Amino acid sequence: MIGFIEGLVVTLKTALRKPVTDEYPEPEKRRQVEPRYMGFPALLWDYDVPEPYCTGCMVCVRACPTQCMSAQMTDNPKYADEQSRRRKIIESFEINLGRCILCGICVDVCNFDAIEMSHEHELSKYERNGNRVDLGQLMDMGRKFQGDTGWSPSNPAKNSGVPVAKGSRRAAPRRAGAGSAVGSDAPS
Ligand code: SF4
Ligand code: SF4
Repeated sequence: MIGFIEGLVVTLKTALRKPVTDEYPEPEKRRQVEPRYMGFPALLWDYDVPEPYCTGCMVCVRACPTQCMSAQMTDNPKYADEQSRRRKIIESFEINLGRCILCGICVDVCNFDAIEMSHEHELSKYERNGNRVDLGQLMDMGRKFQGDTGWSPSNPAKNSGVPVAKGSRRAAPRRAGAGSAVGSDAPS
């Protein structure tokens, strides 16, 4: 009987004790990731044109070691209208983030500054294929990353979609502040 009461006291003490771990998820308690943290890959938005940097060239798709990416390109109507230097533009893009190993190879092989390892890391889903993200979702992740970090392309002269001014061999300069915030010209 005494042992039973002692056990009950221990149980009650434990039940009433302040938790030593944080509840999850509680956004206000989450720590910010480090600036160089590599989360899931995301596609980036060229605010100067505006359109994605991605041309759908498939280089990253072929290089991905887990073959979790697919992409399809199309003719860029803005090129025909002389609003963009990109002849081709991404039409559809999908990454199965459930198979992505965050290796960063897709970022390394992209020649167009079109993809970055974002800070996104909380994408748990109940469905087996719930982590398949499409072009719109990848662009949303990318624009959030651009806004949070003030990202700018490593080679704006080469990869900007701004048409080359007549008589010039370079693209028109980027306007100040472009890429540092989510603009109203971005699709929803
Ligand atoms: S992200 Fe880069 S490498 Fe991949 S399809 Fe787009 S432009 Fe090509
Ligand atoms: S980070 Fe690696 S595994 Fe993930 S999509 Fe890019 S190449 Fe594929």
